[in-house]
Amino acid sequence: MSKEESMKKSETVKKLVIVKKPEAVKKPETVKKSDSVKKLETVKKPDKIKMPSVLFISSEVSPFAKVGGLADVIGSLPKVLCEKGCDARVIMPFYRRIKQKYLEKTQLLNCSMVKLGWRSQYSGIFTLKQDGVVYYFIDNEYFFGNDKIYIDYTFDIERFCFFQRAVLDAIGDSIGFEPDILHCNDWQSGMIPCLLKAHYQACGFHSKIKTVFTIHNLKYQGIHSEEMISDLLDLPVTYMNDSGVLQRGEPNFMKAGIVYSDAITTVSETYAHEIMTHEYGEGLDGVLWEYSGKISGIVNGINSIEFDPESDPYIPVNYDIESALMNKKICKSELQKELNLEQNPDIPLAGMITRLVDQKGLDLLLCIIEELLETPIQIAILGTGDPYYEGILTEMAIKRPSSLSVSITYDNPLAHRIYAGSDLFLMPSLFEPCGLSQMISMRYGTVPIVRETGGLKDTVIPYNEFTGEGTGFSFSNINAHELLYTTKYACDVYKNKKKAWSWLIRNGMSADFSWNRSAEKYLELYKNVL
Ligand code: ADP
Repeated sequence: MSKEESMKKSETVKKLVIVKKPEAVKKPETVKKSDSVKKLETVKKPDKIKMPSVLFISSEVSPFAKVGGLADVIGSLPKVLCEKGCDARVIMPFYRRIKQKYLEKTQLLNCSMVKLGWRSQYSGIFTLKQDGVVYYFIDNEYFFGNDKIYIDYTFDIERFCFFQRAVLDAIGDSIGFEPDILHCNDWQSGMIPCLLKAHYQACGFHSKIKTVFTIHNLKYQGIHSEEMISDLLDLPVTYMNDSGVLQRGEPNFMKAGIVYSDAITTVSETYAHEIMTHEYGEGLDGVLWEYSGKISGIVNGINSIEFDPESDPYIPVNYDIESALMNKKICKSELQKELNLEQNPDIPLAGMITRLVDQKGLDLLLCIIEELLETPIQIAILGTGDPYYEGILTEMAIKRPSSLSVSITYDNPLAHRIYAGSDLFLMPSLFEPCGLSQMISMRYGTVPIVRETGGLKDTVIPYNEFTGEGTGFSFSNINAHELLYTTKYACDVYKNKKKAWSWLIRNGMSADFSWNRSAEKYLELYKNVL
């Protein structure tokens, strides 16, 4: 088969994988569609619609402040939308780390007092234009003058109550921007659609604003006591009830986003279906069913400028699809040296760059890691998170320094070197809304091993030993031995099927993980909502 034919076939397989939906997700006949769904269906599109103006609201934005994939998404999507002619801007907290680094480059736009229950809090709005995108930062020393992005659960609720009210106060005159759409992301901005209706939408341009709510991770919902939230947000009982903000008697910011937004997106098609099941619904599957008519899945892209092996400044040698086989060997050898692993080109090296939390399948890995390390394999883990995983992994690495490296830190340049220098990339997640690391690894010619869930299922094409097609390896069940056997199998292909391996690298590197297609889908959604 020619290379072109093989690539085309890979595309077909990919499409098949993307359209396949889990069988468990069938909409019950009795589910009533929400009003917003009806609106979505009946709106007749005029022939020429002006490009919408959109304000993204997020707690993390790359490169200013990043904890996980959310920052990558908000750091990339608005830029691509702007390139397509949409006026997409971003608003986020002015965390201390941003203030320290960017204050000189920003301009103070406005200062005001924001109502937070019985108190009034100072809110400064700073702005900066970077790479064609206008960013706004909400300043308040008490809430954001801390080194950490997230501090502790109770205080975070208060911080993001303030943030959301400050955002809604800011739009319009304060920042000179009247967006058509507020694009909210995760629980930290989940109350915006509700607050907009409750306090702002009676008159003026606010009355025309529509809201889109993207669920990046359903697990984190922003839940606190009714007493505290009523106090902070001044919400009348028409919203503070079980069909509104309350979930099992407690205010739930994620639920509020689901109920009051005009459209909901999740970051992959499979995750959009999974979250409506009991297994993945995190207690909100019933609500999600109820509003299923306004939910869609749009897979994330990756920042193809930051993650580009051809120009990456952090890696020892750059490479493209043609030079990958050769130059990855140099990257691998340098990485082994840097991490004090045995410098041996024949031992497959598996990378893992992740928040160290149970979602990422660390219990599966811990269950089999001893047995796995009996075979010739090296594992390089980079991450921070749960002290339990940090401790146990560090201890294991001390016992096996030549085959296991564990770096408990957040280190972007090292992350790039692991993406480039590894042969395999481990992502045995229990659930994965989209996942960016598997796409980044494929762009670097590093072959992912994933569990078939969420975006991992939608973006990795399983290797087929008969046709030689595929971009990675996958297993379906939350079962440690499936991870073990899949990893051993991948190592076997690496060692014994050189041609198949070079095709795996090629297929992954030539797949399109850019934001282009997804940005078009968001534009389509915005136009439908307006
Ligand atoms: P999640 O959003 O659940 O954390 P994703 O795979 O969507 O997972 O995105 C994780 C992003 O964060 C990737 O860009 C990954 O490279 C980066 N990352 C995670 N942990 C670290 C770390 N310790 N050091 C550097 N980058 C990290």
